[in-house]
Amino acid sequence: MEVPGNLEAPITGAAEPKQNGPALPSSAYVAALEQRDREQRDFLENAAVAMHCVGEDGTILWANRAELELLGYAREDYIGQNIAAFHMDEPVILDILNRLKCNEEIRGYEARLRCKDGSVRYVSINSSVYREEGRFIHTRCVTIDIGAQRRNAELHERLSAIVEGSDDAIISKDLDGIIRSWNRGAERIFGYTSDEVVGKPITIVIPQDRLDEEPKILGRLQKGERIDHFETVRRRKDGALLNVSLTVSPVRNAQGKVIGASKIARDITASRRAEQAIRALNDQLSADLSALVRMQEISTRLVQAEDFQDLLDEILSAGVEITDADMGNIQLLEDRALKIVAQQGFDAAFLDTFDHVSDGLAACGTALKQGARVIVEDVAESPIFAGTPALEVMLAAGARAVQSTPLVSRSGQKLGMFSTHYRSPRRPGDRELRMLDLLARQAADLIERKQAEAALLESEARFRQLADSMPQIVWTARPDGHTDYYNERWYEFTGFSRDKFGDESYRPLLHPDDVKPCHEAWYSAVKSGEPYRIEYRFRDRHENRWRWFMGRALPVRVGGKIVKWFGSCTDIDEQKRNEEDLRRANQDLEQFVHSASHDLQEPLRMVSTYSELLKREFGSKLGPAADEYIGYTIDGALRMEQLLKDLRAYTLASTAGHEPAADVDSGESLDKALANLSAAIKDSGASITRTDLPRVRYHDFHLEQLFQNLVGNAIRYKSGVPPQIHIAAERRGEEWLFSVQDNGIGIDPQYKEQIFELFKRLHSAAEYPGTGMGLAICKRIAERAGGRLWVESEPGRGSTFFFTVPCHEA
Ligand code: ADP
Repeated sequence: MEVPGNLEAPITGAAEPKQNGPALPSSAYVAALEQRDREQRDFLENAAVAMHCVGEDGTILWANRAELELLGYAREDYIGQNIAAFHMDEPVILDILNRLKCNEEIRGYEARLRCKDGSVRYVSINSSVYREEGRFIHTRCVTIDIGAQRRNAELHERLSAIVEGSDDAIISKDLDGIIRSWNRGAERIFGYTSDEVVGKPITIVIPQDRLDEEPKILGRLQKGERIDHFETVRRRKDGALLNVSLTVSPVRNAQGKVIGASKIARDITASRRAEQAIRALNDQLSADLSALVRMQEISTRLVQAEDFQDLLDEILSAGVEITDADMGNIQLLEDRALKIVAQQGFDAAFLDTFDHVSDGLAACGTALKQGARVIVEDVAESPIFAGTPALEVMLAAGARAVQSTPLVSRSGQKLGMFSTHYRSPRRPGDRELRMLDLLARQAADLIERKQAEAALLESEARFRQLADSMPQIVWTARPDGHTDYYNERWYEFTGFSRDKFGDESYRPLLHPDDVKPCHEAWYSAVKSGEPYRIEYRFRDRHENRWRWFMGRALPVRVGGKIVKWFGSCTDIDEQKRNEEDLRRANQDLEQFVHSASHDLQEPLRMVSTYSELLKREFGSKLGPAADEYIGYTIDGALRMEQLLKDLRAYTLASTAGHEPAADVDSGESLDKALANLSAAIKDSGASITRTDLPRVRYHDFHLEQLFQNLVGNAIRYKSGVPPQIHIAAERRGEEWLFSVQDNGIGIDPQYKEQIFELFKRLHSAAEYPGTGMGLAICKRIAERAGGRLWVESEPGRGSTFFFTVPCHEA
């Protein structure tokens, strides 16, 4: 599109013809006008300022090259479009158009235009309406790019915000050192407000002794140099000194001339302090670490020490080394006195004096008394030594300072003293003392262990000596049952070589029938921790026969835990054989008694039968004396018969025990016994009561006999009143406790054992008839059944007989 006409512009290059009357323009004048018009168009078209014209409806009528270039559109994309399409903010363009319509002139109206590439351009618009005879022709707009200007303003705002918001002090000054700006960070760090310092020399914050820094800094700035991270000290308003890190940069004017400086000061006081603390900590840690490494080396040396003296010497030289001492000694407690066991650097006089130190003498005796370390920085000045003979000895030995640390083991046992000595007055450092403590603790533990080992060796040697002197075979086993020691007797008996003591080497010696029971009994003891006890046979190689032994073992416990088994094998062969002989003899005797009592029964019956006949047929003819004699004979025969009956019962009580017992109702056994005693019960007028009686494993006949004898006695040994007898049973743990209680004459306690012996009676047959065998039979029966029998009684207050019966749960 062409540049619209009627644009007012000066005509250049042709003079306007003189107006002297109406006349047609000359061709030269027309040509000049056309020339001027072209020039004007060209001028507008190529002007460096962006321009455009807009119609009344907002259509872009014309735009020059600068305008198109500013926004990046091709002519055809721009001209003919509505101007509103290129404005980012619709209200803005509507406002502009409106104002123009109202004949207002627009000056410097800021707007945002949309470019071809999508970017936004900030512009300032100047515009006015061109009218002809009051008619709106078009608006003329000049568009000025204010992007750079705006960016600068924004940048300035942002920078100011950054400067104000910074924690660091940001200060600018001129080359005379006069402060020009002072941000909030500077106010905070230095304590001056901006008003207080702007216009004042920067030296206001420089301490007196650093004033010479400023000319140097200004000198460098003038040369255009920048100063980076210069660490120095500055002074706050309140006089406090600060560690700061300065970065100072020259500020130049548009011509590049240095006109001042910007300065950033950072308060590094806190980080300086932290740095120093870290450095100190680091130093301490690395010193501690190397001390630990040294301790570890020392520990290794100590653990490797061959014997006790070696160990003590190693401990001592380690202690002297770590405390940087000149001399030292270790004393151990013996009979409550300290005795030197290792020393370094002392003469005989010193050793004599300090070889037996008791509570309170010198540093070591004081440490012993107090149970804590004693440090004497100067022996000559110390009240510990003042006026004591030890002072002279110490000074003569060249020891001016000393420390004594008690050796206390982990278990709390006080073992002795560890002292180190110095030729000049001094006090060991904290680290030295810490290491000394570590060493002393380790040394004490090692000393304690070595002493314990020595004691163990000694006690082991003593035990072996003792065990070897015993007539029995003695052995020990580990908690798991593995035999680890036999005494000499074992090797003598077995002929084994001493290196063959391992577990179960006894097996081939055992009787084949005893292997399994022995093995089972031993391992069940090992498992349960119960004592082990069993009889078995070993092959006697000398006599080439089996020999009975009693094996016993007891566990040794430490803190409830089994640490060892101590065992013995006792030769019980002779005892066993005697027992067997005795058993056989008893058996024979019982057999004899049994058959004799049986065989005697017949002739006895003949005596009593014929005595009866004699009495009946000739009684009156032989006279009263003969009657009396015949009476004695009959009586004697009856008593003899009872005796034989009881003897048989007695032998039966032991032999019948071999037959298996049965499950019996003890109440029924009592019933049978009472039935047998019915006549005596009736005659005596006895009353009999009972509790519930249990079922027990017993020989029915034996239980009946037991009840019969006890109830029979309760009736026979009655006092003046009719007998009252109570039979009871109660469960006591693993057994039943039976009792037969009466209100009879009672028994003097001194006879409470004797009455159970054979033929033991407390009364004559005339007073109370009896054979003295009843309770002996009862005792035998009770014991054969695995129980006991006893009496509790007081004369005149009745008696209670008790017997127990083991429970046999089904
Ligand atoms: P025996 O009754 O035939 O003499 P025992 O062996 O039965 O023989 O008794 C031994 C002795 O114990 C009796 O002589 C008697 O002195 C005393 N004795 C036994 N039972 C009682 C009892 N229940 N009360 C008082 N004494 C008794």
